[in-house]
Amino acid sequence: MMNTIAIAIDGPAGAGKSTLARILAKELQYIYVDTGALYRAVGYAMLQKGVSPSDAESVIPNLTDLTVSLQFVDGEQQVLLNGENVSSSIRTPEVSMAASAVSAIPEVRRFLFDLQQNMAKTHNVIMDGRDIGTVVLPWAQVKIFLSASPEARAQRRYEELLQKGQTVTFEEVLKDMIERDYNDSHRAVAPLKPADDAISVDTSGNTLEQSIELLKSIVKEKLLCLNIR
Ligand code: C5P
Repeated sequence: MMNTIAIAIDGPAGAGKSTLARILAKELQYIYVDTGALYRAVGYAMLQKGVSPSDAESVIPNLTDLTVSLQFVDGEQQVLLNGENVSSSIRTPEVSMAASAVSAIPEVRRFLFDLQQNMAKTHNVIMDGRDIGTVVLPWAQVKIFLSASPEARAQRRYEELLQKGQTVTFEEVLKDMIERDYNDSHRAVAPLKPADDAISVDTSGNTLEQSIELLKSIVKEKLLCLNIR
C-alpha cells in the first residue's frame, strides 16, 4: 500500500490532459508530471544524433549515453537531457512524431519506467500520459481517461502551436494527430487504452472551465470514497 496519492490521467494527444492536470495539481498541491515530455526528450535526442526514431536497432544502443531527468521550478516541470533543459525544444510537430516512434520500443519504455514510478512513490502526483493507469501506476487511487473528437483535439493543438509562433496548418496537425493516435493505440507494448477502473471523460464541446469542474468533482468524490482528504 502506497503512502502517497496518485491521480493518473491518460488519453490521446490534445484531449486537454496537460492543461487540466496542471490546474488540478495546483489546487491539490500535488506535483504534475507530464510523462510525454520524457518520450519527447528521447525522440529529440535521437533526431539530434541523426538516428531514425523508428529504427529500434539504432535507438537502443544510443540509450546508454542518455540521461533523462526531471526538475521542478516554481511547480513547473522541466525535462533535462544530459543535464540540459530541453523543455521548449521538444514541443515541435517533428519531435511529437519522433516521441511516438520511440515510445513503441519496449527498451525505451523500460528506460523511462523507474523515473516515473519513483516520482509517485515519493510525492503526491497527477501524472499524465498514455499508460499511467494501466502500466506505470496501476495502484493509482484515481484514474481518468480523457478523450475528445479528433477535430476538437486537433483544433486545440493547432491553436497552441500557432500561439508558440509555429507555422502549421490545421490539416497537418489533424493528420499527424490521427497517425500518432493510431501508433499509440496499436503498439504491442503499453498501448493507449483506458484502465478497467478508469473513469472516461469526453471533453469535446466543453469549455476549459466545464472540464475542470467535471474533473474536480470526479477526483473529490473518488478521494472521499477512499476516505482521503
Ligand atoms: O503527451 P505527449 O503528446 O507529449 O506525448 C508524446 C508521445 O509520447 C505520445 O504520442 C506517445 O507516443 C508517447 N507517450 C507514451 N506514453 C506516455 C506518454 C507519452 O507512449 N505515458
